[in-house]
Amino acid sequence: MAEPLQAGNLPDDFPPERFALMAFCEGCGHSAALDRASLPPGLTVQAIPARLRCTACGRRPGTLRVVYTGAGGFKYAGAAMMPGLEGLGSA
Ligand SMILES: [Zn+2]
Repeated sequence: MAEPLQAGNLPDDFPPERFALMAFCEGCGHSAALDRASLPPGLTVQAIPARLRCTACGRRPGTLRVVYTGAGGFKYAGAAMMPGLEGLGSA
């Protein structure tokens, strides 16, 4: 069930049990899964990259990818690598 990203996709369009929202920093190659709970309601996946800042190098990552995890092949290990969300009032 692969859905192309279109303007206006919300994170809820991608159920967390099947999809992970991954941010990739183009500055240093850092990547991390986003904490959905920290995202403001109504923020589209297209708008998310502009709200992120890399915790490793301080730059803004330019890429957000929706990764399908439903097959169980994707394992995310690295909670300590969670990127900060700038200007959202959360760490
Ligand atoms: Zn970085």
